[in-house]
Amino acid sequence: MKQIYTFGGYLKEKFGCHVYKVPVSISGFTCPNIDGTVAKGGCTFCENDSFSPSLDRAKPLKGFYLNLTTAENPNLKQQLLQLQQQFEVLSRKATTEYGAERFLVYFQSFTNTYAPFETLKALYERALSFEGVVGLSIGTRSDSVSDEVLNYLAELSKKHEIWIEFGIQSVFDETLQRINRGHDSANVREWVAKAKGYGLNVCGHLIFGLPGEDRSMMLETARQAYAMGIDSVKYHPLYVVKRTALANEYARGAFEPISEDEYIEVLTQALLLKPLHVSVQRVTAGIDNDTLIAPSWCRDRNEQIRSINAAFKKVGLKY
Ligand code: SF4
Repeated sequence: MKQIYTFGGYLKEKFGCHVYKVPVSISGFTCPNIDGTVAKGGCTFCENDSFSPSLDRAKPLKGFYLNLTTAENPNLKQQLLQLQQQFEVLSRKATTEYGAERFLVYFQSFTNTYAPFETLKALYERALSFEGVVGLSIGTRSDSVSDEVLNYLAELSKKHEIWIEFGIQSVFDETLQRINRGHDSANVREWVAKAKGYGLNVCGHLIFGLPGEDRSMMLETARQAYAMGIDSVKYHPLYVVKRTALANEYARGAFEPISEDEYIEVLTQALLLKPLHVSVQRVTAGIDNDTLIAPSWCRDRNEQIRSINAAFKKVGLKY
């Protein structure tokens, strides 16, 4: 049985201990695809609460949003405090429940380079100052990074483990348009190459089951994402949550979610195509609360992992 190269395995090899990613969600961050800079409403599947388990803690600054042209950030002090509080709570839990020994601070919700440079620097450097933190992982969009930010992250990466996570989702522009992504595939290609050029570690997020895509398109996305030079990958099935444009499409019969069997078949093929050095951070996703509309197999993560492992076993893989 061949063990899939996981991100946890990569970190263990590199740091010799259990390194845990601590997700944080800082209020004031939004997304240019939500605030009207690129588009309004965001990606059709995005109801950002559903991707942000710790978003509740970010509510004290509700109504306050940053963008690249924000001249002054009057709430930076409070954002730094939120960051610290979230890190303390979640890192303690990870230590007691999962035996975590070191941490990567994962700026997860919304677009975490979409703020004035001074704010980004203050937040990233505060995160790196916490005890046990070996680095950062920064989730963002390819149209929301700049040479200034990448150059700065490259400087940080001389002493710390720095990752940048891009939503690739699909390499097909017709799909990106259909989900209102607000950028094209060429933009992703350009900024993944730039991030790699700065020597940064890049993780790519892929979604299988996007509207209008068949199996060959999903696998072509995986192939092209690997060819871009990503170092790590997250695979997600597309699921429908309440209060999204996709929920409306689903209600009028214009979108059919991917079945569990098809997802697992595509995932297995994508893993077999994957270069060995690309680590895997996630093989599925779901949400276990009443915001999930469909498909129902995306509710129970343990059940998903059981089915995925059973399918992997047939081709000699183990996750
Ligand atoms: S890029 Fe991310 S945060 Fe922005 S609209 Fe799309 S899914 Fe939502």
